[in-house]
Amino acid sequence: MPGDARAYKLPVAGEWVEDARDIPVLDKYTGEIIGRVPVAGRALLEKAVAGARAAFPAYSRMPAHRRASILGHAVQILERRREELAELICREAGKAWKYSWGEVSRGMETFQFAAEEARRIHGETVPLDASPTGEGRMGFYLRAPVGVVAAITPFNFPLNLVAHKVGPALAAGNCVVLKPASTTPLTALCLAEILEEAGLPPAVLSVVVGSGDAVGDWLVGDPGVAKVSFTGSAPVGEAIIRRAGLKKVTLELGNNSGTIIEPDADLDEAIPRCVMSSFANSGQVCISLQRLYVHREIAAEVTRRMVEATAKLVVGNPLDRSCDVGPMISESEAARAEQWVREAEREGARVLIGGKREGALFHPTVLADVRSDMKVMCIEAFAPLVSIYAYERFEDAVRMVEESPYGLQAGIYTRDIRKALLAVDQINAGGIMINDTSIFRVDHMPYGGNKMSGLGREGVRFAVEEMTNLKMVVIKP
Ligand code: NAP
Repeated sequence: MPGDARAYKLPVAGEWVEDARDIPVLDKYTGEIIGRVPVAGRALLEKAVAGARAAFPAYSRMPAHRRASILGHAVQILERRREELAELICREAGKAWKYSWGEVSRGMETFQFAAEEARRIHGETVPLDASPTGEGRMGFYLRAPVGVVAAITPFNFPLNLVAHKVGPALAAGNCVVLKPASTTPLTALCLAEILEEAGLPPAVLSVVVGSGDAVGDWLVGDPGVAKVSFTGSAPVGEAIIRRAGLKKVTLELGNNSGTIIEPDADLDEAIPRCVMSSFANSGQVCISLQRLYVHREIAAEVTRRMVEATAKLVVGNPLDRSCDVGPMISESEAARAEQWVREAEREGARVLIGGKREGALFHPTVLADVRSDMKVMCIEAFAPLVSIYAYERFEDAVRMVEESPYGLQAGIYTRDIRKALLAVDQINAGGIMINDTSIFRVDHMPYGGNKMSGLGREGVRFAVEEMTNLKMVVIKP
């Protein structure tokens, strides 16, 4: 029903602009067009960056309490528009209602943390006389905003991953040009409206929509941008770091997350958590559980209970309040997941449940008899599929989790503190969750990956650190 779709405008350099060239945004379950969004050309992108640069001197000098109060006001408006935002996420991302609602709560919390952080960005004194050369001088450093932050975001959390860039950038006094994923730009545009209503001065935030290859690439290469903050896939992350040159860059990339279950684990707690971790948002979470390592002694019981719990999941329309698993972002992504599962089967894996596709819906899938070199194990799946691998020795399971080229988060269920600490020591990842799966995250903890999972950290305070430059002041009386 193209006629019913809302025509959106882009907030660029303080104006809401339209363009004859636009892209349709689809409801990922029904396929209906729910919005049409102008595509930014090169001139519009350059206008957005120039507008942000022009707004920077005044915004970066706005007192911290005023920046905090704009961000705090945005939280109140998010609360007021909560239902509308949850529905937008549900429809444009295909995310089940309960997780869409949860994402709005998290987005509010991320902005609340940003509002609080705005008031406590500070440096410290440096005892210069620790060196004979520094005797008689006084030194301290400040944290100064970098300038224009280019924020490039993926489709899977259209509100909260935008909040993780825009919130800290604005808290620190930066201006932002945001490029959301082409499949899910509507929530980001709604957020721009909210920030405008909250009192953000014109041109401090622009939103440009268009393909990553064009608009994303121009933005990363634009000399007016001081910092690129990117969340998305590893291949795009690598292309961005090459293109960015000497700009500051933060990369939040993917993972093929592993979790280990030892025989002493509380299975009543672990199994529902593993099922949720594998299938929430159709497995399209960067810390979704993909590789489940289970001790041989409990492998049969864990496998049976995982399959039983998976069979109870409600798959279908994400707007349905009881839905657990909605569609994937596109039919082609679901077809890719299906091919991976068929390939694993040809290589000897067994599909215990799922493996079926209806359009963009890929049914929650549990695999057994997998090998470490199968695609479903060694590459990020980003789909509702989990592979169970039975191990003999805890040390081997830790080694297999660690052998991944990625290093975002991992989980270990055990009551044995020595085993837990061995995993903490041996696994090179940004986060190790003891008695939880890889999926645990709250929005103020340092979050990010090592190895192919990225560079730098988010989590509001840590993102602020990445979006500010230290400025050292030395005073010789
Ligand atoms: P993606 O394909 O890498 O796209 C992410 C963003 O980058 C989109 O806005 C995309 O634009 C843009 N882009 C694409 N090519 C570009 C280029 N050459 N230059 C600049 N920008 C470019 O990722 P996705 O499929 O949306 O998201 C899934 C990935 O994100 C997974 O790998 C997942 O693990 C990762 N992720 C990581 C985290 C984390 O915090 N570590 C969190 C969530 C997701 P278009 O939409 O126009 O292509």
